[in-house]
Amino acid sequence: MYPTLPPLAPCNNEEYRAFRETVRRFVDKEILPHVDAWDEAGEFPRELYGHAAELGLFGLGFPEEYGGTSGHLFHGLVMIEEMTRAASGGLLASLFSHTIGAPPIVAGGSAELKARVLPEILGGRKISALAVTEPSGGSDVANLRLRAERDGDYYILNGSKTFITSGMRADYITVAARTGGAGAGGVSALLVEGNSPGLTRTPLKKMGWWCSDTAQLHFDNCRVPVANRLGPENGAFPIFMLNFNQERLALAMQAYGFARVCLDEASDWASGRTAFGKRLVGHQVVRHKLVAMATRIEATRAMILDLTARLEQGESPIPQICMLKNFAAQTMQFCADSAVQILGGMGFMRGMKSERIYREVKVNMIGGGAEEVLTELAARQLGWA
Ligand SMILES: Cc1cc2nc3c(=O)[nH]c(=O)nc-3n(C[C@H](O)[C@H](O)[C@H](O)COP(=O)(O)OP(=O)(O)OC[C@H]3O[C@@H](n4cnc5c(N)ncnc54)[C@H](O)[C@@H]3O)c2cc1C
Repeated sequence: MYPTLPPLAPCNNEEYRAFRETVRRFVDKEILPHVDAWDEAGEFPRELYGHAAELGLFGLGFPEEYGGTSGHLFHGLVMIEEMTRAASGGLLASLFSHTIGAPPIVAGGSAELKARVLPEILGGRKISALAVTEPSGGSDVANLRLRAERDGDYYILNGSKTFITSGMRADYITVAARTGGAGAGGVSALLVEGNSPGLTRTPLKKMGWWCSDTAQLHFDNCRVPVANRLGPENGAFPIFMLNFNQERLALAMQAYGFARVCLDEASDWASGRTAFGKRLVGHQVVRHKLVAMATRIEATRAMILDLTARLEQGESPIPQICMLKNFAAQTMQFCADSAVQILGGMGFMRGMKSERIYREVKVNMIGGGAEEVLTELAARQLGWA
């Protein structure tokens, strides 16, 4: 096993240690014994939301008046380091889909709406999802097509969303809709309740993230009260963009955590298995592969620590977050590929953590901003385009 990395600097006091222990127990008792079966079944029990919320895992970064807790980014890192030990990105994506669905409610919802829905979501009693991507495209958010026409106190929605995490189960869906003209200035955010007439949902099958609920949503004259609008009409684009920094940081933390799992599995295997008269680690090629994995993991970890601290201090280092998200996904890809190779045929077998992580890599390189799109965003932010 790769030596346990010391806790990151701000995370090594008693409070963080206790929090880590809480998450670790939750993962050991409630997730690890079941996660393989959940992945095969294509879903996990809804009760898990309530259990995670009870431990305070859902409120990180949300206002205290609705059940949240402050000082969340390093707590988020500790939580993700522990949760990724279960080696299931799909579980994390669905269980924590409120981390992308609920921030626009906080940013743009009326006081009445926030008081009604946020405690339910943060308490794990209701599920929240974010619906931005459409069948016609997801990268070019400013050109989304789903139409919302005003009709008195309602908007009438027509169109589709796709690849939506928690799309089948969500009680509250934060939808990006076109209420105005072309481009970013015509986009509004609407909170659609899961039982709204005119909303139909279809589950989607995927390469990985099997236990995650992913759906296509169709809106056919679906009526949404104007009171459910989040932020100004035609002014929601910045609200959706705000989401991205933290989503990308969280995806980077997950990719780093999964890369570590691959290294540990490969290191254990290479230390115990024999080929050509010596342990696999006795072969220089194999042990150098392990060092190459560890090198990328250490570099990713250093970037995460730096950028988390900068975000906590109120900076918004957008180009560096884009670079980190891409770098972390590449680290995960390299480590998953290397681990499966070191595990040999066993790496191709279901039940191995590296096998699942290998199947999940591509979504980390596409979701939350495809690699090419983030590289271009970084270039623009740095004034090179
Ligand atoms: C499992 C899963 C869960 C998801 N969950 C959600 C969710 O909860 N909510 C949600 O709204 N969306 C969700 N998504 C959608 C995800 O955010 C999009 O898939 C992503 O933004 C890319 O959009 P797209 O798939 O339409 O690809 P496109 O925009 O069609 O792009 C396809 C490819 O073209 C290339 N490309 C695109 N633009 C450029 C460019 N400017 N320069 C160079 N190359 C480019 C990239 O390689 C990109 O991967 C999810 C996706 C998956 C797979």
